[in-house]
This record gives sequence, C-alpha cells and structure tokens, in this order.
Amino acid sequence: MSSTPSYQRTLARTVSTAGVGVHSGVRATLTLHPADSDTGIRFRRTDKPSDQGLIQGIWSNVNDTRLCTVLTNSHGVSVSTVEHLMAAFAALDIDNALVELDGPEMPIMDGSAEPFIALIDEAGTKADITAPRRAIKILKTVTYTEGDKQATLSPGQDRSFGLSIDFNSAAIAHQDYRFTLSNRTFRDDIAEARTFGFLPEVEALRKMGLARGGNLDNTIVVDGDRVLNPDGLRFENEFVRHKLLDAVGDLALAGLPILGHFQGLRSGHGLNNKLLRALFADPSAYELVPFVASTDVTAKLSTTNSPQKRAAVAHG
Ligand SMILES: [Zn+2]
Repeated sequence: MSSTPSYQRTLARTVSTAGVGVHSGVRATLTLHPADSDTGIRFRRTDKPSDQGLIQGIWSNVNDTRLCTVLTNSHGVSVSTVEHLMAAFAALDIDNALVELDGPEMPIMDGSAEPFIALIDEAGTKADITAPRRAIKILKTVTYTEGDKQATLSPGQDRSFGLSIDFNSAAIAHQDYRFTLSNRTFRDDIAEARTFGFLPEVEALRKMGLARGGNLDNTIVVDGDRVLNPDGLRFENEFVRHKLLDAVGDLALAGLPILGHFQGLRSGHGLNNKLLRALFADPSAYELVPFVASTDVTAKLSTTNSPQKRAAVAHG
C-alpha cells in the first residue's frame, strides 16, 4: 500500500488499430492520441466535418444503451460501443486521450478489453506532474432500481465493483463476482472476458440490421444451455466478469475515477448510466477529492495466464 499522490496520465504516443463494429458490421480505424490534462477522454469522428465530429466521453452524452453504450454530441454525431475502451482507460489510469475513429462504431476486436489494454501498453503512458488527479468520492448510497434490476453506489475507500446475474440458461445461471479495480486486477481477472449473446436474439438482431459484425470470434454465443464457441469459455464465470467490465467502462463516463463501491443486480448499460444520472442529480451524495493511490494502480504488470482462467466449460 502506498499513499502517493496521483497525477493525471495520458498516452506516451499515438497508436492505431482497426476492426469491425459488432452491431453495425462497419470496419473502422481506431487511433488513440495523447491529450492535454483536464481534457478527459474525447472521441473524434474523422469521417464527419471537423467542427462537428468531437464527442466528449461523458455520462451526459449517453443517449442509447439498448445494446451497447452510445455517445452523441449536440450535432447528432454518435460513436457506439465505447464501453470496453473506456474500461481499459479506467483500469490503466488514463485520464486524458483523444480517440479518433473513421466510422460510427468502435471495433469490437475479440469482444473483450484485452486488445485495448495491449494497444495502450504499446503506446505507453505518461504522467503530468503539474496536474493532480482528482476523484469522485461517494458520500452516501445512491440506488437506481428498475423492475428486478438494481444498481447502487455506496461509500468505500477504493474502486470496488460487485455484480450478480441470473439467466435462464445452464451455461450462465447464477453468477456473482466482486473485485477491486486496479491495473493488476483488471488485467488478471476482467479484461479478457468477452461480450455474449443468445442465438435467438442474435438472429433477431440480424433481421433488424444489427449484430452484423458479431460472430464466434468476438462474441460468446449461447444457445439454450450450450456455449457454441468451439474453444469454450476463457473463465468459468466469464459472463459476470464481462458485465463487470461493462460497468467499469460505463462508470468511467463519470469523467473521474469513482471512489466507492458499485453493486449491480441484473444491471447493464441502461442502469449504469441512470445510476450516474442519479448520482450527479444529488450534490450531497459525492465530493471531489484528490485521488490517492491505495493500490498498485500505476504499476505496469503483464497479463498472467493462470491455468484456472483457461478452464473451458463443456459445450456440445
Ligand atoms: Zn460489453
């Protein structure tokens, strides 16, 4: 444990990758640039007029959460499926970056955050010792409930996340997982968990013109009680870990790290955003404080491949 004051971080240099969007099927080139302190995470659509393409990565720009998290600016320009990159930025303590994209949707890559972690590692990171890092400290519990779904933020010393899910499929069933966010825990336990979908839903979405880029290389596809991916799962409880990955990314749209505990019950992108809206609607629920690293949040550690995380469940 250390109590070193933290400074804002950005990328050390520009890096690029490319891939298709899981919903649109549109191929896009993604470029991550260093950015000035106090600018946050900003997206720029390079296929749009230059005075209209900038979209701040912030909770108030979230306007669609049905399948993924979509950000839209005042010109009506959108960028879809930002949550996995946002999670990687949050976990690696990147406060400021400019994300350029020449299409409407972020590449899905392998469905997890691991390719974005690798991309940020390729760029390297640097701190701005003239810009102290701040955090949002939760002062009292804020809950958002919708039917049998619930999301809660409550006071805590670090950035911890817990989630429970229940699905009427033996491949998923009940899964419950909790972790404290740090560079190391995210790399080891969360980053590689992939997005998932159910075969009948995937077929229905395709008919609606969605899920066009989704396939077994970037999505866990569940059919009844079976996982259709030939290599099975990356973790026995990969589903709840991916939902936690999404929660980390969606909550990163707060604009600053949140010191407190997130707890989700069957929650997803919609509730994650409504929870942030409930938080910021109540100024007595939080305060801005200097971010003090209590864990190894700035340590760069490589991904480990422990045997148990590769345990595939039976399929077929
Ligand atoms: Zn996701």
